[in-house]
Amino acid sequence: MKTDKPTDPTANKQGQRIFDGLGVSPGIAIGTAYLREGGDLQVAEYQVPAGKIEAEVERFREAVARSQRQVGKLQGKAKRIHGTAAEELGFLLEAHIQMLKSGSLIGGIERRIESARCNAEAAVMAEIGEVAKNFAAMDDPYLRSRGQEVREVGLRLVRSLTRTNYGSFGHLAPGSIVIAEEITPADTALMDPQQIAGFASVLGGAESHTAIMARSLGLPAVIGVAGLISGINTGDTVIIDGSGGRIIVEPTAKCLGDYEAKRRALARETKSLTRLRDVPAVTRDGAEVVLQANLELPREVAQALAVGAQGVGLLRTEFLFMNREDLPDEDEQYQQLAEVVAGMAGRPVTVRTLDIGGDKVSSALGEHIVESMNPALGLRAIRLSLRERKLLDAQLAAMLRAGAHGPLRILLPMISTVTEVQEVRKAMLATAKRLRRRGVAIADPLPPLGVMIEIPGAALAADALANVADFFAIGSNDLTMYTLAIDRGEEQVAHLYNPLHPAVLRLIQFTIQAALRARIPISLCGEIAGDPRFTALILGLGVRELSMTMNALPRVKNRILGLDMQAATRRAEVIMDQHDSGRIAALLDDFNELGVGGA
Ligand code: PEP
Ligand code: MG
Repeated sequence: MKTDKPTDPTANKQGQRIFDGLGVSPGIAIGTAYLREGGDLQVAEYQVPAGKIEAEVERFREAVARSQRQVGKLQGKAKRIHGTAAEELGFLLEAHIQMLKSGSLIGGIERRIESARCNAEAAVMAEIGEVAKNFAAMDDPYLRSRGQEVREVGLRLVRSLTRTNYGSFGHLAPGSIVIAEEITPADTALMDPQQIAGFASVLGGAESHTAIMARSLGLPAVIGVAGLISGINTGDTVIIDGSGGRIIVEPTAKCLGDYEAKRRALARETKSLTRLRDVPAVTRDGAEVVLQANLELPREVAQALAVGAQGVGLLRTEFLFMNREDLPDEDEQYQQLAEVVAGMAGRPVTVRTLDIGGDKVSSALGEHIVESMNPALGLRAIRLSLRERKLLDAQLAAMLRAGAHGPLRILLPMISTVTEVQEVRKAMLATAKRLRRRGVAIADPLPPLGVMIEIPGAALAADALANVADFFAIGSNDLTMYTLAIDRGEEQVAHLYNPLHPAVLRLIQFTIQAALRARIPISLCGEIAGDPRFTALILGLGVRELSMTMNALPRVKNRILGLDMQAATRRAEVIMDQHDSGRIAALLDDFNELGVGGA
């Protein structure tokens, strides 16, 4: 899934072009390309009070720095493509960098913010419009064409400022395939699978939240694809092979036919697995496993039920804060959560407090999140909630109220200390008291309060955390990232991201044992929970509850039905004695290939 094969955009001069990248969401999509870059942007214009001008200029400077980093990254990618396309792309990106460093352009925008007392976005659009107009009036065709580049730089700056990227995809025809430089989790939340068939992007890593959202929506996706933008035009026919990590542009009739056949075969297999919906997940030797769904959006409830999920093991509440400029209040959050709880009809729903920060950004929280050198280590998740108490209290109140409609658990992301859990418990008790005084119906008894184990320090302190937490959920995505110091959203190090590294497995084992000793429930809700390759190992280590991207549930259940738990436990013991991840992978894959679970 993660192989980064050499890219050759000029593979076939007759028209068919092939690009390779990270296949992050399986399946095959065939459709019409929509190249998002190059579109126009609607920009809000407003006056900035005199006392806030300096802060507005600072916000603009941060956006300039962010844009420079983006172009720098693209330059790194361009170096890995071959041929004239690379040369042209290199010149273009160098021109963009020069403009982003240009005193006259950047200084001109800053002066506009100060003199017109307007927001940075409006200043960018005004300055860019004027510069581009001057270029357009020139006789020299080369200089005239530079006007378009200035416009592109301006659009990049505005996108960096608003962090909302390019807006909705509502206008696209069904079967569209979105091609972009970068697709954020917020963009993915706007994609309707009835309309968007799949997507591909230049930037992004396999375990990024964009990838997770794509899997959740069942949208085939390939990301981390060098040279993509210059090799595709809007309107081209495109095949996205999300399993093989391949994009084929303007395929030959034979290639198209082959992929159509593959797509039909996949659809048949998926359909045949629906027969497992009501079959309990029990191993051949009688061990019962609970299979739950990870939800990104409330609208996924129907699909979770359709695949037979026994509950929601992780409801990421970030959706409430995406693609908007204002914050959702307690009532709005309550309505949305209550809908999910009611929709799951008595099955437990585990709601996680806000996990914004890192690669999950929200324009609504712009003023609360300060740009940091290391966003993954910065003010994110529970750290932000504990600093912005109003945010936390509103979330807790909404959760307590939604808990009146069915079983609900509260889960805390990025916990690293016992004190953080105690502080949230205190806040939850105070919120409950306040709501009761108001006569509002809330969960009774109060919901269990659980902890995500996704920081190595939390795993090592699992004994202590088990004393203050009601349950654990292992977040193997972040645990792998933080243990191995590999950014899960960074395509350049994606090949090093490996949950089978012995250090990661030891932390998982340590956590499971602490939970079992303390007799608190433990589940695993990172992406490996949804990959049948890992099922025998996770269960062999002692976990009996898995929560995963819904579309993966039937295949994981199928694996469990064929598994012998005793054999899996023995194999996990052998694996935990190893210190080489290659050997671990071989032992696991051999075991899986034995079919029934290694008798
Ligand atoms: C994890 O880190 O494994 C996890 C489940 O949380 P998220 O992917 O939302 O960071
Ligand atoms: Mg996480």
